[in-house]
Amino acid sequence: MIWFRRINIDEIESAKRALPHYFAILKGDEKPNFFYAKQVEVSFDESFSFEELWNIHEEGMKKLKEGEFIENPEQSLLDLKAVIADKILEKCELCEIKCNVNRKNDIGYCRVGESLVASDFLHLGEEPELVPSYTIFFSGCNFRCVFCQNWDISQYRVGISYLPKEMATKIMVAFAKGAKNVNFVGGEPTPNLPFILKTLRFVKTPIPVVWNSNMYMSEKSMKLLDGVVDVYLGDFKWGNNDCALKYSKAPGYWEIITRNYLLAKDHYKAEFLIRHLVIPTHLECCTKPILKWISENLGKDVRVNVMFQYRPEYKAGEYKEIDRGLNYNEMKRAAELVREFELRNALVG
Ligand code: SF4
Repeated sequence: MIWFRRINIDEIESAKRALPHYFAILKGDEKPNFFYAKQVEVSFDESFSFEELWNIHEEGMKKLKEGEFIENPEQSLLDLKAVIADKILEKCELCEIKCNVNRKNDIGYCRVGESLVASDFLHLGEEPELVPSYTIFFSGCNFRCVFCQNWDISQYRVGISYLPKEMATKIMVAFAKGAKNVNFVGGEPTPNLPFILKTLRFVKTPIPVVWNSNMYMSEKSMKLLDGVVDVYLGDFKWGNNDCALKYSKAPGYWEIITRNYLLAKDHYKAEFLIRHLVIPTHLECCTKPILKWISENLGKDVRVNVMFQYRPEYKAGEYKEIDRGLNYNEMKRAAELVREFELRNALVG
């Protein structure tokens, strides 16, 4: 027996300890955050300046955090978030690439113009607490990971363009079929934030929102996600900026990702499930600082999935040091690091 093998009952029990809000929604004792954002009344006009809209957003967030709700307001905090996100598209800075493209006429660095859904289905291969997970794969990504397993959708514009109302109907049907959550992924969900917010306005079933992302969002996107996301299913790939730049072309990675996790820590009832894909030869430079940082900054109870599924796909063959799967010593070392940093609710393997 290898000692890092998962045990199902333990998995669920540790997930319950780490994700109480999420499990309360599944039980019907809580509502997903976007339900609350729909019940916060705000008043705005789409012609208002950014500054005015953000000020109203701040007031709305204050109401949300103080529990000031009313049924069916004429304009809600969620409506406002969708309007702000849509305006940002005109000079896009949804993610930290900040390429400033007018996404209403053109595609950005991420290759996203209008949102395209490459596939959507009830996913059974996610963490046990998530499955079945209604997973929506958008095409396009702001990263260029050389080993991307989804390169056929992340690096190309493929898929179907839905209206937000149509997407909302698909989410509600998935919920009726037993989906535990709606899982926005890609590629990367961040370039699709305006579409996602518009979609959630039409969703009437209490389905938790999972944000399955590389966490390279701009601070503005982070503000818009506050009060919407229930679970940040965030990647934490690189333990330093050199590796991030070399393999994902993601400048300033460490500062941006750690900032966003700290911001998300203060988001309205948000919880984490952090995924770290262990990369061959990157245990000391990446796995170690990442697990240390999580333990010291997000706490030892946070849910972390330390994954051994790395395969050298896409362009990984051009980088000899990562052109193979993990070996036994690397898996053993990753498991040791989980213990060293006392991550009690981690999945390993
Ligand atoms: S989301 Fe895409 S278009 Fe927007 S800033 Fe990032 S890379 Fe550019």
